[in-house]
Amino acid sequence: MDQTIKTVLDKNQGEPEFLQAVEEVYESVIPVLDKKSIYRKERIFERMTEPERIISFRVCWEDDNQDVQINRGFRIQFNSAIGPYKGGLRFHPTVNHSILKFLGFEQIFKNALTGIAMGGGKGGSDFDPKGKSDREVMRFCQAYMSELSHHIGHRIDVPAGDIGVGAREIGYMFGAYKMIKNEFSGALTGKGIDWGGSLIRPEATGYGLIFFAQYMLETHNDSLEGKSCLVSGSGNVAQYAMQKILQLGGKPLTCSDSSGFIYDEEGIDVEKLEFIKELKNVKRGRIKEYAEKYKSAVYTASEKGDDHNPLWDHKADCAFPCATQNEANEKDAENMIKNGISVVAEGANMPISNEGIKVLIDNGVMYAPGKASNAGGVATSGLEMAQNYYGLKWSADQVEEQLRQIMKNVHDSCLKAAEKYGMKGNYQAGANIAGFTKVADSMLDQGII
Ligand code: NDP
Repeated sequence: MDQTIKTVLDKNQGEPEFLQAVEEVYESVIPVLDKKSIYRKERIFERMTEPERIISFRVCWEDDNQDVQINRGFRIQFNSAIGPYKGGLRFHPTVNHSILKFLGFEQIFKNALTGIAMGGGKGGSDFDPKGKSDREVMRFCQAYMSELSHHIGHRIDVPAGDIGVGAREIGYMFGAYKMIKNEFSGALTGKGIDWGGSLIRPEATGYGLIFFAQYMLETHNDSLEGKSCLVSGSGNVAQYAMQKILQLGGKPLTCSDSSGFIYDEEGIDVEKLEFIKELKNVKRGRIKEYAEKYKSAVYTASEKGDDHNPLWDHKADCAFPCATQNEANEKDAENMIKNGISVVAEGANMPISNEGIKVLIDNGVMYAPGKASNAGGVATSGLEMAQNYYGLKWSADQVEEQLRQIMKNVHDSCLKAAEKYGMKGNYQAGANIAGFTKVADSMLDQGII
């Protein structure tokens, strides 16, 4: 193991997700560091793995029984070499430094790939919105923002949604920010359409993912038309990924939540997808209710301690993991290959283990890492920021067209960077190299800070 990565591993013991993300990038950029020695001399990689700032704070709020609740709030301002910090907020009981550092680190390269001037950041809380009343969620968001508001701003740091943070939470946080600052500005993205939001932002991550997959298939003169697809998750990213798959003539067969997954042999059509949206976004129900309504579907509950995820063990053409980190391992990758999967594009961040990715690439599967294939969400947040800044409102068609173009550019820059370093067709290497060099060169320009 060389000294660069050893230093980072030694310094971040006990943060497995962060180290997984760092190792994944490092392996890809070794040829770049070897070719351009100034990166090593100036210790660019080590500097990139050290967040510029970690803000950690107490969040106290009162539940519906008037009992005091205490949560932890965080914001990691990871890297501002190419623009203000930008990245989502996650509300989930598993949130800790390791999870947010991995997400913030990935965000640096993803944002660079979009071509929009955005640095990398991520934040959130161990608060669990599941099972809470709307009023409890509101009081929590207000308490969280009472501290976060001191650290963000439309030219400083612009958070958005992520797991557990959707339209409802962004609304409550924006309201709180506005009252604290006495300022109506684009300090958050994912806002409602009538108060500064962008059309297509809710759809953007899922749509962008499927555009990316379509561009991958086009390199083989193929398309999504008629392709069967395994999708995981049933939240924002999964819902709009399924919607775009349907629009492009594909057939989603599965989706999931943290309790289990459904497999619908007849496919999830437009009507069934509307049922899922209502179930998850309005009723806040569980995906097993899908199988109670549609008899063509089978529900399988998640088993704790299972050595693989049975969702990935079905015959299909494409796989789109859209739930959470490490939801597919080496065995799942082997199952995908056994079942005929030829395209895997990540909607979630780091959903496949590093060993699983290696299995896919070694077996000739076209694999797109999340930092490239799910970049459509943050890119459209960038478009929301631009509209807020200039006081404009673009039509849905205009935004979707820009999103499509951005995904095409991200796709092409991955291929170009991979080819330049002798790894033709390797999207993983290409995404890491293209994102890294852009940020590294900007850091060199700005001196030792
Ligand atoms: P949502 O909260 O809308 O949905 C998350 C989905 O994943 C839910 O179905 C949830 O199930 C499921 N899930 C969460 N944790 C687990 C778990 N431990 N095991 C199995 N399933 C789980 O989040 P998003 O759709 O916004 O985010 C999904 C992924 O996409 C995340 O990795 C996120 O970082 C990434 N992403 C999101 C972007 C966005 O714009 N929203 C942009 C780029 C990436 P349950 O209902 O049971 O919690």
